Amino acid sequence: MLDQQNFSSFVMGDWIAPSNPSRAVCSAITGQELGSVGGKLDLSGMRDYAKTYGGPGLRELNFHDRARMLKALALHLKLHRKALYQLSFETGATLADSKIDIDGGIATLLVYASKGRREMPEDFILPDGELELLSRDGSFLGQHVYTPLRGVAVQINAFNFPVWGMLEKLAPSLLAGVPSVIKPATSTGYVTQAVVRLMLGSGILPRGAIQLIMGGTGNLLDILDCQDTVGFTGSAATALALRARPNILKNGVRFTAEQDSLNGSILGSDVAPGSAEFDLFVTEVHREMTTKAGQKCTAIRRIMVPEAHMEAVQTALKARLHATKIGHPALADTQMGALVSLNQRLDVRAQAQLLGKECDLVFGGEDHCQVEGADAETGAFLAPMLFVCADPDHAVAVHEVEAFGPVATLMPYRDIVHGIELLNRGDGSLVASVITHDPAIARQVVLGAGAFHGRLYFNDRVSQAESTGHGSPLPHMVHGGPGRAGGSEELGGLRGVKHYMQRSAVQGSPDMLTAITGTWIKGSTELTASVHPFTRNFDQLHIGETLHTAGREVTLEDIEHFADFTGDRFYAHMDAEAAKANPFFPDRVAHGYLLLSFAAGLFVEPNPGPVLANTGLNALSFQKPVVVGDSIAVQLTVKRKTRRTKDYGEVRWHVVLRNQDQEHVAEYELLTMNSYGETKGA
Ligand code: NAP
Repeated sequence: MLDQQNFSSFVMGDWIAPSNPSRAVCSAITGQELGSVGGKLDLSGMRDYAKTYGGPGLRELNFHDRARMLKALALHLKLHRKALYQLSFETGATLADSKIDIDGGIATLLVYASKGRREMPEDFILPDGELELLSRDGSFLGQHVYTPLRGVAVQINAFNFPVWGMLEKLAPSLLAGVPSVIKPATSTGYVTQAVVRLMLGSGILPRGAIQLIMGGTGNLLDILDCQDTVGFTGSAATALALRARPNILKNGVRFTAEQDSLNGSILGSDVAPGSAEFDLFVTEVHREMTTKAGQKCTAIRRIMVPEAHMEAVQTALKARLHATKIGHPALADTQMGALVSLNQRLDVRAQAQLLGKECDLVFGGEDHCQVEGADAETGAFLAPMLFVCADPDHAVAVHEVEAFGPVATLMPYRDIVHGIELLNRGDGSLVASVITHDPAIARQVVLGAGAFHGRLYFNDRVSQAESTGHGSPLPHMVHGGPGRAGGSEELGGLRGVKHYMQRSAVQGSPDMLTAITGTWIKGSTELTASVHPFTRNFDQLHIGETLHTAGREVTLEDIEHFADFTGDRFYAHMDAEAAKANPFFPDRVAHGYLLLSFAAGLFVEPNPGPVLANTGLNALSFQKPVVVGDSIAVQLTVKRKTRRTKDYGEVRWHVVLRNQDQEHVAEYELLTMNSYGETKGA
């Protein structure tokens, strides 16, 4: 049984039990009161505490440290999954629903942990995009960079995913280096609270990195400034009320809204009953209607089917819905649990009534709600409802009303252009899906509907087995959508992290930009290597340390030998007349790959040492042809260092090949793995 502790807020390092509780929280299964939330909290103190301790504590860590912290949190939470599933049953969620919520949240932490290590520097400043040349001689340059905001990330979450909803915001904000104040929805906040308790108990997070409000946010939004953010998930009506607060507008507080949306799914005009895609479509729609009892912001609300197949889809869907086992979420064979609360059921019924004014109910209603192991009335159980809208062009409610439960409407379309038109009638959605085996249809949908949807999901017999499902937001991909969906984006890999950072255009000399970004920039001061840099281990290497090699002349024999050896007898290397007729070549020229091989021969230190392997080469460009008699020399500069494992790290080298006239012949980035260990022979 839950007690007051489960409804306590975490404020400035202390757990605060609800005082003057004003809102009861009830079980979705029995309707009985589990506890209540309420009470006045020191919201201004919470913000100050986050800024005084949480922000500095997080900003002391570099991106890789924060990524490791996310991984440690995920592994810690993983150990407690079973207890969280148990708690989650009370919200009406089945085990499968809880896995989406709890395991999905943990997976999101892990993806950000991995992206942080792979895609961000081992540093505190995140460069954005390419260097911009702002002067003729390269002495004045521009680079965009991101630094963390100095405020607090306020997250206000919807009731349907109490764990994922929090972690999908926390993963990018912690990685950015910004502390959070978390406000879960009242009806399921006790599950969020359990996870917050686990995270705090793990000791992994710096002091002040997270705080929790169980209950109302009071005037919190009215004391935020331009360094704070609000990440809201919930209904369009609440989003509008919150984002329109004068203080939010006045201070330009970043406000991200993930709202409801009337997501659609199209059965491709190429798909016929009996095909793999037809079954897949019915499976996807059924899953979206019943998972989490349809309380998913991404659920399919509008089902668009070619006129000729309306009957077949309706029959197949009704059969699936009929066979769906509704029951106590803890029972092993329950496929659909309860809505989150009796109020939510009232709301869904009211919205369904609006749909019923212009559509026919072909499945659902009270007589379909057979519930195993619980009482259908005292618990918030509701049978799925399938409507048919015969004239979607003239219907209004079907494109506007969100019944946030197991409710969807089937509608016919004439051709794919009409299907796209209907899809876009939702005025902006989180996701639209198309089940088709025809790539031309997929392209047409992207062109016609892309502007209205945050995510476009195509599935067919090829991707079926590995596909992640219409309704699953993934940390790698953008989650959010235009218009009614809120006009924001979350997740999307590093895009999500940048919401919590400020992008600044930085201008200055190469040395300035090298110091700022921690990456050696062309034109910066070179440090002359006293010994060959390949003999120095990872820690001994300095950014900017440079080796200049001796020159090597390229002969006709070299070119012919390379051509015979590799089989690359392209005419520009072999036939002087043909080469001269080509606009790029003055004569027979050396193979580009021959030059790269010679370069390696010039800069490589042959003996065993700290360089363990050459792991790649990026951004290679050949800039001037090399003809017989030319001589090439190499400049090798330490560009960036990143620790990868406990034994070795990656070194990126800037490599330039020049000819005898100091003209650039080729340029690239070379990647090596270098050990941290003692330098042999040094
Ligand atoms: P809601 O009623 O709008 O509530 C969302 C959150 O806002 C809750 O935490 C709620 O707290 C809080 N809230 C309400 N009024 C507030 C106020 N004046 N000041 C500060 N916070 C306030 O939505 P819901 O019923 O929880 O969730 C269902 C809706 O969310 C659906 O429409 C669904 O489509 C949408 N949703 C969207 C996404 C997405 O990613 N786009 C994801 C999930 C859900 P209390 O619970 O304490 O009132």
